[in-house]
Amino acid sequence: MSFASHRLRVGAFDCLVVKDGSADRPPLSQYMDPVPAELAAYEMFMEGGLMLVDGPEGRVLIDGGNGPTRGPRSHAAEEALAAEGIAPESIGTVLLTHGDPDHIMGLLTASGDPVYPNASYVLHRDLWDAWHAPPSAALYFPGQEAFVRRLASVVGDRCTRFDAEKEVFPGVRAVPALGHRAGHTAYLLESEGARLLHVGDAAFDPVFLEFFSVPNVRDTEPERARDARRALVERAIGDGALVVGSHFRLPGVGRLEKIAVDRARWAPVDG
Ligand SMILES: [Zn+2]
Repeated sequence: MSFASHRLRVGAFDCLVVKDGSADRPPLSQYMDPVPAELAAYEMFMEGGLMLVDGPEGRVLIDGGNGPTRGPRSHAAEEALAAEGIAPESIGTVLLTHGDPDHIMGLLTASGDPVYPNASYVLHRDLWDAWHAPPSAALYFPGQEAFVRRLASVVGDRCTRFDAEKEVFPGVRAVPALGHRAGHTAYLLESEGARLLHVGDAAFDPVFLEFFSVPNVRDTEPERARDARRALVERAIGDGALVVGSHFRLPGVGRLEKIAVDRARWAPVDG
């Protein structure tokens, strides 16, 4: 069986972008309102998953994917890691972009045990606080509350929390990009002069980076998220970083170039 994944090098980091089979083609108008005229015929594509970062200091996962309880193909990311010979026990660190179900529900088995038994966790303090606040319809998806309670207890004292930009693993900086959901964070990898910025859900598809000033109405705080997205675009361009997003179509890696005050151009990178 073959799985959808894409491998790339960022200096000493060997990265594997893994998809979990949750491909979807929603209308862009569900997110951008109004849709810019230039995008009237654009067909959006989203697919969840996670990214493995294998480096000299250990193995890191960015997010956990959909996991076992979210549909017939929802084990695919875990299976794709296994197909690459990645044992769950070998994952030392899990970095979270945010707490939506498609990013965290792959962290526990159906019986509530950790999928990555030796991992410690890194997350923004706002996400940790949200997990411990009274249940909120704005925060949780149906059925997710009990899962979050269990995950918070598993993560427990095995987590590092940050509330500002910080190196959270050798060569990996957490870059808070708030507004999508509580504590939403991007991660910047840097090794041997090469950089990659993982923007999480700050952009569901590269067109959200190209039209970075258009608010995404599905963000919890659309204007704050728009400002964070603009800062990520400028950071990626300024740092000469490759860019990847949680939901981009494979290979899902590209570079940005500023072409107008509120526009950037996405150039896919195959290597
Ligand atoms: Zn997502």
